[in-house]
Amino acid sequence: MKKSCKLIFTSVLLTYFAHLSLCVIAQQKKLNDKPNIIVIVSDDAGYADFGCYGGKQISTPNIDAIAKSGTLFTNAYVTASVCAPSRAGLLTGRYPQRFGFEFNISAKPADGYQISDIGMDPKEFTIGNEMHANGYKTIAIGKWHQGDHERHFPLNRGFDEFYGFISGHRDFFSFKKQPNAVHSLYHNHNIIAEEKITYLTDMFTDKATSFINENKKNPFFIYLAYNAVHVPMQAKKELVNKYAHIRDSGRRTYAAMMTSLDDGVGTIMKTIKENNMDENTLVIFINDNGATAANSSSNGYLRGMKGSNWEGGIRVAFLMKWTGKIAANKTYSQPVSSLDILPTAIAAASRKQKGTNKLDGVNLLPYLNPVNKKLPHEALFWRSGLTAAVRAGKWKLIRVSTRPTLLFDLENDVSETKDLANKYPEKVKELMTKLTDWEKGIDKPHWYSPRD
Ligand code: CA
Repeated sequence: MKKSCKLIFTSVLLTYFAHLSLCVIAQQKKLNDKPNIIVIVSDDAGYADFGCYGGKQISTPNIDAIAKSGTLFTNAYVTASVCAPSRAGLLTGRYPQRFGFEFNISAKPADGYQISDIGMDPKEFTIGNEMHANGYKTIAIGKWHQGDHERHFPLNRGFDEFYGFISGHRDFFSFKKQPNAVHSLYHNHNIIAEEKITYLTDMFTDKATSFINENKKNPFFIYLAYNAVHVPMQAKKELVNKYAHIRDSGRRTYAAMMTSLDDGVGTIMKTIKENNMDENTLVIFINDNGATAANSSSNGYLRGMKGSNWEGGIRVAFLMKWTGKIAANKTYSQPVSSLDILPTAIAAASRKQKGTNKLDGVNLLPYLNPVNKKLPHEALFWRSGLTAAVRAGKWKLIRVSTRPTLLFDLENDVSETKDLANKYPEKVKELMTKLTDWEKGIDKPHWYSPRD
């Protein structure tokens, strides 16, 4: 009798544990169906200034750690070599030229447009809209730079919460006087008093971590667009002192600003880990455009800078990590784009696109399987006024309306030193046709460049 009781008890216990583990699996599956998604953007950082991209002078251990636990893209591009259109491409998964966002935000509307049209077209469906429609809690933190008017405000563009500023730059420390609306720091529609501002990079990190802690029980989407390491050059004193060995004072400050950015990334990754969210969080890190002399950043071996269609303007640091879903410590060398972030996020959330606009980006997750040798993109395109470019496979063509067209073989000449246009006229013709075909599907700029 005693023995059979024991048997019954054991069998009840086994059933209970089997049920429990099924519940855990179900719960895990539910979590993985809607993983948290964090997109971290840096601003004007040099391609060669990240340790994981070969940088030696500035230490970026936390950003490098994303590469170690995920995939590093060696041929990753943004859609424009300046801040605002680059971000518009990321936020919509569409070439910003499709909706007239060819130039940085200016105050010069093109014929037929008004000043309030300068900004991301409200008809575009953003990554915030997509994730919100999929039941995610969404927040935009940091630099917005998608238009100064209420219709462009992040809370009207798919984000449940906003903590940041509207313009393309502002001081990292507090202004002595309250600045105008676009340079002020906002929490939703409320302006934060300048005297409460400590150091912007740290404040954005703190907001991201508190948002993670507040949203442990529901899926969340964070668009964390640091304005580090864009000008003005302002860093915390103790970090500048750490780089006392760097002679150039601009570069020294830049290094300290990079360290604040990297520390921020580290704090966010630590928060994810502490909350046991590693396997349930897709993290994407991307820089918005290439290096510029203004902040003493470096593109290393890439030719050109911010504002150009050379590789140094448009090729950027791009990392992706999702423990258990994306293999660790891998590189991916086919051309990819910031356009791919939105479709990848939608696919990670196991959902379908809610917006009706045709996307230019693709879901990158299937391509990260080493068996898949297909190319994510047959070609990628750029245009900014007089200059345009196309990359297809290893070839890149640069068209400048006032000069001869250039052709480069990026596989053998990543620094774009040997123009092969005369040697391969058929290739020039082929790429030129691709470019002009693409131009048939884009709109005229809705405003003029601030540099015009
Ligand atoms: Ca930028």
